[in-house]
Amino acid sequence: MEGFERLKLLPLILQAIRSEGYTRPTPIQEQAIPRILEGKDLLACAQTGTGKTAAFALPILQILSEAPAGAAHGTEVHPIGHSRARHREIRCLVLTPTRELASQIGESFTNYGQGLELRNTVIFGGVGQNPQVAALRKGVDIVVATPGRLLDLLEQRLIDFKHLEIFVLDEADRMLDMGFIHDVRRVIARLPKKRQTLFFSATMPSEISALAHQILTHPAKVEVTPVASTAEKIAQALFYVEENRKTPLLIHLLGDPTATRTLVFTRTKRDANHVAEALCEAGIGAAAIHGNKSQGARELALEKIKDGRARVLVATDIAARGIDIDGVTHVFNMDIPEVPENYVHRIGRTARAGKAGIAVSFCAPDEKGCLAAIERLTRKRLSVIATPTGLEPETRKRSRGRRGGQHNGRRGGRGGGQRSGRSGR
Ligand code: AMP
Repeated sequence: MEGFERLKLLPLILQAIRSEGYTRPTPIQEQAIPRILEGKDLLACAQTGTGKTAAFALPILQILSEAPAGAAHGTEVHPIGHSRARHREIRCLVLTPTRELASQIGESFTNYGQGLELRNTVIFGGVGQNPQVAALRKGVDIVVATPGRLLDLLEQRLIDFKHLEIFVLDEADRMLDMGFIHDVRRVIARLPKKRQTLFFSATMPSEISALAHQILTHPAKVEVTPVASTAEKIAQALFYVEENRKTPLLIHLLGDPTATRTLVFTRTKRDANHVAEALCEAGIGAAAIHGNKSQGARELALEKIKDGRARVLVATDIAARGIDIDGVTHVFNMDIPEVPENYVHRIGRTARAGKAGIAVSFCAPDEKGCLAAIERLTRKRLSVIATPTGLEPETRKRSRGRRGGQHNGRRGGRGGGQRSGRSGR
Protein backbone atom coordinates (compact mmCIF):
# COMPACT_ATOMS: atom_id res chain seq x y z
CA MET A 1 0.00 0.00 0.00
CA GLU A 2 2.91 2.36 0.63
CA GLY A 3 3.24 2.58 -3.11
CA PHE A 4 -0.04 4.35 -3.60
CA GLU A 5 0.40 6.42 -0.45
CA ARG A 6 3.63 7.84 -1.85
CA LEU A 7 1.57 9.20 -4.73
CA LYS A 8 -0.19 11.57 -2.32
CA LEU A 9 -3.67 10.34 -3.04
CA LEU A 10 -6.61 11.27 -0.81
CA PRO A 11 -7.54 8.79 1.95
CA LEU A 12 -10.92 8.07 0.34
CA ILE A 13 -9.24 7.25 -2.96
CA LEU A 14 -6.67 5.07 -1.21
CA GLN A 15 -9.50 3.22 0.44
CA ALA A 16 -11.19 2.61 -2.92
CA ILE A 17 -7.91 1.34 -4.37
CA ARG A 18 -7.60 -1.02 -1.44
CA SER A 19 -11.06 -2.41 -2.00
CA GLU A 20 -10.17 -3.04 -5.67
CA GLY A 21 -7.40 -5.24 -4.31
CA TYR A 22 -4.54 -3.24 -5.85
CA THR A 23 -1.43 -3.34 -3.75
CA ARG A 24 1.08 -1.36 -5.77
CA PRO A 25 0.86 1.14 -8.56
CA THR A 26 1.73 -0.06 -12.05
CA PRO A 27 4.60 1.76 -13.80
CA ILE A 28 2.26 4.01 -15.78
CA GLN A 29 0.42 4.92 -12.58
CA GLU A 30 3.64 5.64 -10.76
CA GLN A 31 4.83 7.96 -13.49
CA ALA A 32 1.61 9.63 -14.59
CA ILE A 33 -0.28 10.28 -11.35
CA PRO A 34 2.13 12.84 -9.82
CA ARG A 35 2.38 14.77 -13.10
CA ILE A 36 -1.38 14.89 -13.57
CA LEU A 37 -1.83 16.05 -9.97
CA GLU A 38 0.60 18.90 -10.68
CA GLY A 39 -1.77 20.02 -13.43
CA LYS A 40 0.53 19.14 -16.33
CA ASP A 41 -0.54 17.99 -19.76
CA LEU A 42 0.48 14.38 -20.39
CA LEU A 43 1.59 12.39 -23.39
CA ALA A 44 1.49 8.72 -22.44
CA CYS A 45 2.53 5.78 -24.55
CA ALA A 46 0.67 2.92 -22.92
CA GLN A 47 -1.89 0.38 -23.84
CA THR A 48 -4.73 -1.58 -22.35
CA GLY A 49 -3.56 -3.87 -19.61
CA THR A 50 -1.00 -1.47 -18.17
CA GLY A 51 -3.40 0.06 -15.65
CA LYS A 52 -3.73 3.26 -17.68
CA THR A 53 -7.36 3.82 -16.75
CA ALA A 54 -6.53 4.19 -13.08
CA ALA A 55 -3.48 6.26 -14.07
CA PHE A 56 -5.78 9.01 -15.28
CA ALA A 57 -9.00 8.31 -13.32
CA LEU A 58 -7.43 8.48 -9.84
CA PRO A 59 -5.76 11.90 -10.18
CA ILE A 60 -8.77 13.31 -12.05
CA LEU A 61 -11.07 12.30 -9.20
CA GLN A 62 -8.65 13.91 -6.79
CA ILE A 63 -8.34 17.17 -8.72
CA LEU A 64 -12.10 17.48 -9.15
CA SER A 65 -12.90 16.70 -5.56
CA GLU A 66 -10.23 19.01 -4.15
CA ALA A 67 -11.72 21.95 -6.07
CA PRO A 68 -15.36 21.02 -5.80
CA ALA A 69 -18.03 22.49 -7.98
CA GLY A 70 -20.73 24.51 -6.25
CA ALA A 71 -23.41 21.92 -6.85
CA ALA A 72 -21.62 19.29 -4.83
CA HIS A 73 -22.19 21.35 -1.74
CA GLY A 74 -25.26 23.29 -2.72
CA THR A 75 -23.27 26.53 -2.55
CA GLU A 76 -21.72 28.75 -5.13
CA VAL A 77 -17.94 28.47 -5.20
CA HIS A 78 -15.30 29.71 -7.63
CA PRO A 79 -12.71 26.98 -7.57
CA ILE A 80 -10.77 27.73 -10.70
CA GLY A 81 -11.23 31.37 -11.18
CA HIS A 82 -14.45 31.47 -13.15
CA SER A 83 -17.89 31.62 -11.73
CA ARG A 84 -19.78 28.41 -11.46
CA ALA A 85 -23.51 28.01 -11.60
CA ARG A 86 -25.32 26.09 -8.89
CA HIS A 87 -25.96 23.40 -11.42
CA ARG A 88 -23.36 20.63 -11.74
CA GLU A 89 -21.30 21.24 -14.87
CA ILE A 90 -19.18 18.87 -16.90
CA ARG A 91 -15.60 19.32 -15.76
CA CYS A 92 -13.94 16.32 -17.35
CA LEU A 93 -14.38 14.55 -20.69
CA VAL A 94 -12.80 11.20 -21.57
CA LEU A 95 -13.01 10.24 -25.24
CA THR A 96 -12.46 6.58 -26.00
CA PRO A 97 -13.04 4.55 -29.17
CA THR A 98 -15.46 1.78 -28.16
CA ARG A 99 -18.52 1.47 -26.04
CA GLU A 100 -16.96 -1.36 -24.07
CA LEU A 101 -13.99 0.79 -23.14
CA ALA A 102 -16.33 3.67 -22.34
CA SER A 103 -18.37 1.46 -20.00
CA GLN A 104 -15.27 0.11 -18.32
CA ILE A 105 -13.85 3.58 -17.80
CA GLY A 106 -17.18 4.80 -16.41
CA GLU A 107 -17.21 1.88 -14.02
CA SER A 108 -13.65 2.64 -12.95
CA PHE A 109 -14.59 6.24 -12.13
CA THR A 110 -17.53 4.94 -10.12
CA ASN A 111 -15.44 2.38 -8.25
CA TYR A 112 -12.46 4.61 -7.56
CA GLY A 113 -14.70 7.55 -6.66
CA GLN A 114 -16.75 5.75 -3.99
CA GLY A 115 -17.42 8.24 -1.25
CA LEU A 116 -16.53 11.28 -3.36
CA GLU A 117 -19.20 13.75 -4.39
CA LEU A 118 -18.63 13.27 -8.11
CA ARG A 119 -20.90 11.82 -10.76
CA ASN A 120 -20.03 10.34 -14.11
CA THR A 121 -22.02 9.17 -17.08
CA VAL A 122 -21.22 7.19 -20.20
CA ILE A 123 -22.28 8.18 -23.70
CA PHE A 124 -22.06 5.92 -26.76
CA GLY A 125 -23.94 5.14 -29.93
CA GLY A 126 -26.02 2.15 -30.93
CA VAL A 127 -28.59 2.73 -28.19
CA GLY A 128 -31.28 5.37 -27.71
CA GLN A 129 -29.96 8.77 -26.69
CA ASN A 130 -32.79 9.68 -24.30
CA PRO A 131 -31.47 8.01 -21.14
CA GLN A 132 -28.07 9.55 -21.83
CA VAL A 133 -29.59 13.00 -22.26
CA ALA A 134 -31.61 12.50 -19.06
CA ALA A 135 -28.43 11.62 -17.17
CA LEU A 136 -26.73 14.75 -18.51
CA ARG A 137 -29.69 16.89 -17.46
CA LYS A 138 -29.42 15.66 -13.89
CA GLY A 139 -25.90 17.01 -13.87
CA VAL A 140 -22.60 15.16 -14.09
CA ASP A 141 -18.99 16.07 -13.43
CA ILE A 142 -17.35 13.51 -15.69
CA VAL A 143 -18.45 12.33 -19.14
CA VAL A 144 -16.94 9.25 -20.77
CA ALA A 145 -17.89 9.09 -24.43
CA THR A 146 -17.27 7.64 -27.85
CA PRO A 147 -16.82 10.35 -30.48
CA GLY A 148 -19.79 9.78 -32.83
CA ARG A 149 -22.64 10.00 -30.33
CA LEU A 150 -20.92 12.82 -28.49
CA LEU A 151 -20.79 14.87 -31.68
CA ASP A 152 -24.48 14.17 -32.28
CA LEU A 153 -25.32 15.51 -28.85
CA LEU A 154 -23.06 18.52 -29.33
CA GLU A 155 -24.74 19.29 -32.61
CA GLN A 156 -28.15 19.05 -30.97
CA ARG A 157 -26.87 21.38 -28.24
CA LEU A 158 -27.71 18.80 -25.62
CA ILE A 159 -24.28 18.96 -24.06
CA ASP A 160 -21.72 21.69 -23.62
CA PHE A 161 -18.22 21.90 -22.31
CA LYS A 162 -17.96 25.55 -21.24
CA HIS A 163 -16.79 24.48 -17.80
CA LEU A 164 -14.45 21.72 -18.91
CA GLU A 165 -11.19 21.54 -16.99
CA ILE A 166 -9.69 18.20 -18.03
CA PHE A 167 -9.81 16.36 -21.36
CA VAL A 168 -8.55 12.79 -21.79
CA LEU A 169 -8.01 11.30 -25.21
CA ASP A 170 -7.78 7.55 -24.73
CA GLU A 171 -6.43 5.07 -27.30
CA ALA A 172 -5.71 7.79 -29.85
CA ASP A 173 -4.12 5.36 -32.32
CA ARG A 174 -7.20 3.17 -32.30
CA MET A 175 -9.34 6.20 -32.98
CA LEU A 176 -7.26 6.61 -36.12
CA ASP A 177 -7.53 2.92 -37.06
CA MET A 178 -11.27 2.92 -36.58
CA GLY A 179 -11.76 6.02 -38.70
CA PHE A 180 -12.81 8.26 -35.82
CA ILE A 181 -9.98 10.76 -35.98
CA HIS A 182 -12.00 13.45 -37.78
CA ASP A 183 -14.79 13.16 -35.25
CA VAL A 184 -12.18 13.44 -32.52
CA ARG A 185 -10.82 16.64 -34.03
CA ARG A 186 -14.32 18.07 -34.32
CA VAL A 187 -15.00 17.33 -30.66
CA ILE A 188 -11.71 18.92 -29.61
CA ALA A 189 -12.58 22.05 -31.59
CA ARG A 190 -15.55 22.51 -29.26
CA LEU A 191 -13.61 22.31 -26.02
CA PRO A 192 -12.26 25.32 -24.12
CA LYS A 193 -8.66 26.06 -25.09
CA LYS A 194 -7.64 26.48 -21.49
CA ARG A 195 -7.73 22.99 -20.04
CA GLN A 196 -5.52 20.13 -18.93
CA THR A 197 -5.13 17.50 -21.64
CA LEU A 198 -4.07 13.89 -21.11
CA PHE A 199 -3.23 11.97 -24.28
CA PHE A 200 -2.95 8.16 -24.32
CA SER A 201 -1.87 6.08 -27.27
CA ALA A 202 -0.26 2.66 -27.56
CA THR A 203 1.67 3.65 -30.67
CA MET A 204 2.56 6.99 -32.21
CA PRO A 205 1.96 6.96 -35.95
CA SER A 206 2.72 10.35 -37.52
CA GLU A 207 -0.87 11.53 -37.65
CA ILE A 208 -1.26 10.81 -33.96
CA SER A 209 1.94 12.52 -32.95
CA ALA A 210 0.90 15.55 -35.05
CA LEU A 211 -2.40 15.68 -33.18
CA ALA A 212 -0.60 15.34 -29.84
CA HIS A 213 1.68 18.18 -30.79
CA GLN A 214 -1.28 20.42 -31.66
CA ILE A 215 -3.35 19.85 -28.55
CA LEU A 216 -0.77 19.47 -25.77
CA THR A 217 1.14 22.25 -24.04
CA HIS A 218 4.59 21.31 -22.68
CA PRO A 219 3.40 17.81 -21.86
CA ALA A 220 5.12 15.49 -19.43
CA LYS A 221 6.03 12.39 -21.39
CA VAL A 222 5.50 8.96 -19.98
CA GLU A 223 6.22 5.69 -21.67
CA VAL A 224 5.80 2.21 -20.30
CA THR A 225 7.48 -0.81 -21.78
CA PRO A 226 5.35 -1.68 -24.70
CA VAL A 227 3.50 -4.72 -23.46
CA ALA A 228 0.48 -6.30 -24.77
CA SER A 229 0.21 -5.75 -28.32
CA THR A 230 -1.38 -8.93 -27.01
CA ALA A 231 0.30 -10.48 -29.91
CA GLU A 232 3.91 -10.39 -29.18
CA LYS A 233 4.76 -12.38 -26.14
CA ILE A 234 1.66 -14.50 -25.85
CA ALA A 235 1.38 -17.62 -27.98
CA GLN A 236 -2.28 -17.80 -28.89
CA ALA A 237 -4.00 -20.94 -30.03
CA LEU A 238 -7.50 -21.99 -30.87
CA PHE A 239 -9.36 -25.30 -30.80
CA TYR A 240 -12.62 -25.82 -32.62
CA VAL A 241 -14.49 -28.04 -30.23
CA GLU A 242 -18.09 -28.95 -29.44
CA GLU A 243 -19.45 -27.36 -26.30
CA ASN A 244 -19.75 -30.69 -24.46
CA ARG A 245 -16.13 -31.61 -25.22
CA LYS A 246 -14.62 -28.45 -23.84
CA THR A 247 -14.11 -29.62 -20.26
CA PRO A 248 -12.61 -32.99 -21.28
CA LEU A 249 -10.31 -31.11 -23.66
CA LEU A 250 -9.27 -28.76 -20.87
CA ILE A 251 -8.47 -31.68 -18.58
CA HIS A 252 -6.51 -33.29 -21.38
CA LEU A 253 -4.47 -30.13 -22.02
CA LEU A 254 -3.81 -29.64 -18.33
CA GLY A 255 -1.79 -32.83 -18.58
CA ASP A 256 0.93 -30.44 -19.72
CA PRO A 257 3.24 -30.16 -16.71
CA THR A 258 4.40 -26.71 -17.82
CA ALA A 259 0.92 -25.38 -17.05
CA THR A 260 1.90 -24.66 -13.49
CA ARG A 261 -0.29 -21.65 -12.84
CA THR A 262 -3.35 -21.51 -15.00
CA LEU A 263 -6.33 -19.20 -15.30
CA VAL A 264 -9.48 -20.58 -16.88
CA PHE A 265 -12.17 -18.12 -17.97
CA THR A 266 -15.84 -19.00 -18.26
CA ARG A 267 -18.77 -16.88 -19.33
CA THR A 268 -21.01 -17.64 -16.36
CA LYS A 269 -20.68 -18.26 -12.66
CA ARG A 270 -22.36 -21.61 -13.11
CA ASP A 271 -19.82 -22.67 -15.69
CA ALA A 272 -17.01 -21.57 -13.40
CA ASN A 273 -18.31 -23.86 -10.64
CA HIS A 274 -18.85 -26.78 -13.03
CA VAL A 275 -15.41 -26.55 -14.54
CA ALA A 276 -13.70 -26.25 -11.16
CA GLU A 277 -15.62 -29.28 -9.89
CA ALA A 278 -14.76 -31.33 -12.97
CA LEU A 279 -11.08 -30.45 -12.60
CA CYS A 280 -11.07 -31.42 -8.94
CA GLU A 281 -12.78 -34.71 -9.83
CA ALA A 282 -10.02 -35.33 -12.34
CA GLY A 283 -7.45 -34.77 -9.62
CA ILE A 284 -6.37 -31.31 -10.75
CA GLY A 285 -6.24 -28.77 -7.92
CA ALA A 286 -8.66 -26.00 -8.91
CA ALA A 287 -10.57 -23.16 -7.27
CA ALA A 288 -13.29 -20.91 -8.64
CA ILE A 289 -13.96 -17.23 -8.08
CA HIS A 290 -16.99 -15.31 -9.20
CA GLY A 291 -19.39 -12.65 -8.05
CA ASN A 292 -21.51 -14.99 -5.93
CA LYS A 293 -18.61 -15.96 -3.72
CA SER A 294 -18.04 -14.14 -0.48
CA GLN A 295 -14.96 -11.96 -0.11
CA GLY A 296 -13.53 -14.64 2.20
CA ALA A 297 -14.04 -17.37 -0.40
CA ARG A 298 -12.45 -15.21 -3.10
CA GLU A 299 -9.44 -14.52 -0.94
CA LEU A 300 -9.06 -18.20 -0.09
CA ALA A 301 -9.17 -19.12 -3.79
CA LEU A 302 -6.52 -16.51 -4.57
CA GLU A 303 -4.35 -17.68 -1.71
CA LYS A 304 -4.56 -21.25 -2.95
CA ILE A 305 -3.36 -20.34 -6.40
CA LYS A 306 -0.65 -18.07 -5.07
CA ASP A 307 0.77 -20.63 -2.67
CA GLY A 308 0.44 -23.50 -5.16
CA ARG A 309 -2.28 -25.52 -3.38
CA ALA A 310 -4.31 -25.09 -6.54
CA ARG A 311 -2.76 -24.78 -9.97
CA VAL A 312 -5.90 -23.71 -11.75
CA LEU A 313 -8.12 -20.74 -10.98
CA VAL A 314 -11.46 -20.67 -12.77
CA ALA A 315 -12.97 -17.19 -13.05
CA THR A 316 -15.61 -15.11 -14.77
CA ASP A 317 -14.53 -11.88 -16.46
CA ILE A 318 -15.99 -9.67 -13.78
CA ALA A 319 -14.43 -11.66 -10.95
CA ALA A 320 -11.03 -11.58 -12.62
CA ARG A 321 -10.94 -7.80 -12.93
CA GLY A 322 -8.38 -6.24 -10.71
CA ILE A 323 -6.93 -9.48 -9.43
CA ASP A 324 -3.24 -9.59 -9.66
CA ILE A 325 -1.53 -12.97 -9.93
CA ASP A 326 2.08 -13.21 -10.97
CA GLY A 327 3.54 -15.98 -13.04
CA VAL A 328 0.41 -17.17 -14.88
CA THR A 329 1.75 -19.64 -17.45
CA HIS A 330 -1.49 -20.43 -19.31
CA VAL A 331 -4.86 -18.81 -19.88
CA PHE A 332 -7.72 -20.97 -21.17
CA ASN A 333 -10.87 -19.45 -22.58
CA MET A 334 -13.74 -21.92 -22.31
CA ASP A 335 -15.72 -19.64 -24.59
CA ILE A 336 -14.97 -16.94 -27.13
CA PRO A 337 -15.75 -13.61 -25.46
CA GLU A 338 -18.44 -11.60 -27.20
CA VAL A 339 -16.72 -8.38 -26.24
CA PRO A 340 -13.34 -8.50 -27.99
CA GLU A 341 -11.65 -6.37 -25.33
CA ASN A 342 -12.46 -9.06 -22.80
CA TYR A 343 -10.31 -11.44 -24.81
CA VAL A 344 -7.40 -9.01 -24.54
CA HIS A 345 -7.98 -8.54 -20.82
CA ARG A 346 -8.15 -12.29 -20.31
CA ILE A 347 -5.03 -13.26 -22.16
CA GLY A 348 -3.16 -10.28 -20.73
CA ARG A 349 -3.16 -12.18 -17.43
CA THR A 350 -0.27 -14.23 -18.71
CA ALA A 351 3.08 -13.07 -20.11
CA ARG A 352 3.39 -10.37 -17.48
CA ALA A 353 6.65 -8.87 -16.32
CA GLY A 354 8.50 -9.87 -19.47
CA LYS A 355 7.65 -13.57 -19.23
CA ALA A 356 6.21 -15.69 -22.00
CA GLY A 357 2.68 -17.03 -21.84
CA ILE A 358 0.24 -19.25 -23.64
CA ALA A 359 -3.42 -18.48 -24.30
CA VAL A 360 -5.69 -21.23 -25.55
CA SER A 361 -9.29 -20.62 -26.62
CA PHE A 362 -12.07 -23.13 -27.19
CA CYS A 363 -14.49 -22.24 -29.93
CA ALA A 364 -17.81 -24.05 -30.38
CA PRO A 365 -19.41 -23.90 -33.84
CA ASP A 366 -21.81 -21.12 -32.85
CA GLU A 367 -18.99 -18.95 -31.52
CA LYS A 368 -17.05 -18.52 -34.75
CA GLY A 369 -18.64 -15.14 -35.39
CA CYS A 370 -16.99 -13.61 -32.32
CA LEU A 371 -13.52 -14.60 -33.49
CA ALA A 372 -13.39 -12.14 -36.35
CA ALA A 373 -13.86 -9.17 -34.04
CA ILE A 374 -11.10 -10.44 -31.76
CA GLU A 375 -8.69 -10.95 -34.62
CA ARG A 376 -9.39 -7.46 -35.91
CA LEU A 377 -8.76 -5.98 -32.51
CA THR A 378 -5.55 -7.87 -31.82
CA ARG A 379 -4.40 -7.75 -35.43
CA LYS A 380 -3.42 -11.34 -35.11
CA ARG A 381 -4.79 -14.53 -36.52
CA LEU A 382 -5.06 -17.32 -33.97
CA SER A 383 -3.34 -20.60 -34.77
CA VAL A 384 -5.89 -23.34 -35.12
CA ILE A 385 -4.99 -26.67 -33.60
CA ALA A 386 -6.68 -29.89 -34.55
CA THR A 387 -8.79 -31.18 -31.68
CA PRO A 388 -7.45 -34.53 -30.55
CA THR A 389 -9.53 -37.30 -32.03
CA GLY A 390 -10.97 -39.93 -29.77
CA LEU A 391 -11.17 -37.52 -26.89
CA GLU A 392 -14.20 -39.25 -25.50
CA PRO A 393 -15.73 -38.30 -22.19
CA GLU A 394 -14.39 -41.48 -20.58
CA THR A 395 -10.80 -40.39 -21.25
CA ARG A 396 -11.44 -37.55 -18.77
CA LYS A 397 -10.00 -39.28 -15.77
CA ARG A 398 -6.56 -39.68 -17.25
CA SER A 399 -5.83 -38.36 -20.66
CA ARG A 400 -3.09 -39.60 -22.85
CA GLY A 401 0.09 -37.92 -21.74
CA ARG A 402 1.10 -34.35 -22.19
CA ARG A 403 0.23 -32.04 -24.95
CA GLY A 404 2.88 -29.45 -24.80
CA GLY A 405 3.63 -26.99 -27.55
CA GLN A 406 0.04 -26.66 -28.58
CA HIS A 407 0.65 -23.19 -29.87
CA ASN A 408 2.91 -24.58 -32.53
CA GLY A 409 0.13 -26.62 -33.93
CA ARG A 410 -1.07 -26.76 -37.47
CA ARG A 411 -2.44 -23.52 -38.83
CA GLY A 412 -5.69 -23.28 -40.66
CA GLY A 413 -7.20 -26.59 -39.62
CA ARG A 414 -10.90 -27.21 -39.92
CA GLY A 415 -12.71 -23.94 -39.91
CA GLY A 416 -9.48 -21.96 -39.99
CA GLY A 417 -9.34 -22.05 -43.76
CA GLN A 418 -12.45 -20.02 -44.13
CA ARG A 419 -10.72 -17.13 -42.43
CA SER A 420 -7.56 -17.32 -44.47
CA GLY A 421 -8.50 -14.55 -46.88
CA ARG A 422 -8.63 -11.99 -44.12
CA SER A 423 -5.73 -9.69 -43.47
CA GLY A 424 -4.27 -9.55 -39.96
CA ARG A 425 -5.43 -5.96 -39.42
P1 AMP B 1 -6.26 -0.97 -17.96
O1 AMP B 1 -4.89 -0.92 -18.56
O2 AMP B 1 -6.67 0.34 -17.39
O3 AMP B 1 -7.28 -1.56 -18.90
O4 AMP B 1 -6.20 -1.95 -16.68
C1 AMP B 1 -5.98 -3.31 -16.80
C2 AMP B 1 -6.40 -4.07 -15.55
O5 AMP B 1 -5.48 -3.84 -14.49
C3 AMP B 1 -7.77 -3.73 -15.00
O6 AMP B 1 -8.45 -4.94 -14.79
C4 AMP B 1 -7.51 -3.02 -13.69
O7 AMP B 1 -8.52 -3.30 -12.75
C5 AMP B 1 -6.19 -3.62 -13.25
N1 AMP B 1 -5.34 -2.71 -12.47
C6 AMP B 1 -5.18 -1.38 -12.64
N2 AMP B 1 -4.28 -0.89 -11.76
C7 AMP B 1 -3.87 -1.93 -11.00
C8 AMP B 1 -2.94 -2.07 -9.91
N3 AMP B 1 -2.25 -1.03 -9.44
N4 AMP B 1 -2.78 -3.30 -9.39
C9 AMP B 1 -3.46 -4.37 -9.89
N5 AMP B 1 -4.34 -4.31 -10.91
C10 AMP B 1 -4.54 -3.10 -11.47
